Amino acid sequence: MAGILFDEIVFGPVRSRRFGVSLGINLLPLDSKMCSYDCIYCECGLTKHSGHKPKLFTAGEIKESLQQRFEALAAESLSPDNITFAGNGEPTLHPQFGAIIDNTIALRDQYFPAAKITVLSNATMLNRKAVVEALNKIDNNVLKLDAGTNETFQAINRPLARITLDEVVERLVAFKGDLTIQSLFLRGVIEGKMIDNTVEHEVALWLSHLEKIRPKLVMLYPIDRRTPYTSIEKVSESELLILAGRVETIGLKAEVFC
Ligand code: SF4
Repeated sequence: MAGILFDEIVFGPVRSRRFGVSLGINLLPLDSKMCSYDCIYCECGLTKHSGHKPKLFTAGEIKESLQQRFEALAAESLSPDNITFAGNGEPTLHPQFGAIIDNTIALRDQYFPAAKITVLSNATMLNRKAVVEALNKIDNNVLKLDAGTNETFQAINRPLARITLDEVVERLVAFKGDLTIQSLFLRGVIEGKMIDNTVEHEVALWLSHLEKIRPKLVMLYPIDRRTPYTSIEKVSESELLILAGRVETIGLKAEVFC
């Protein structure tokens, strides 16, 4: 199934279940998804390889687009709670990510100084110094951790390059910045294989990773919109609340978003 792609650099503002009134920024191509993962639940659809290098907007084009939208919102006396980097894939893959963050901070300070800047990321680029430096300048880093075992990580997130869950966890532990973990829970038979990150041995190992990472918050959520595989089941709010309670027993804050 094809996913839904954002067809603008700046989109919204939308009322987000996690970030209030959120103005989104998409750093990735408008006509295709670009990501280092191929998550089975991705709302943008599956990650495809077209064989050609995708065209990215430059930092200058993104700045101009952002400034125009900020001016229009300010003229209507509308102000977002959050400026959220999300969009058609993984934002930290943009080669000018650091300059884009600097430009966004300057524009935020000029137009909406109370708004927070949030980056939703899958954490695969935390081994790049420039990416970590940029993320350390913003208000909220919301980084993905969906599994306890490497087997389930490979089955859910399906990284395109060779990377293990232990390596992702190491990068999250080494990240000294402001860090929230987002974890999506699901179950379903995908390509003949049962995938379930709510079973006890998955949850126990996921908790042990969280104990090492020590995020300021763990966000738990189920699938929300259409996913590439219709066999994925939405985990109930009551199950997520039980998992959140277990996060709290290890001394971490947890919130469920349904
Ligand atoms: S990391 Fe995000 S954008 Fe990338 S495949 Fe997974 S859900 Fe989609």
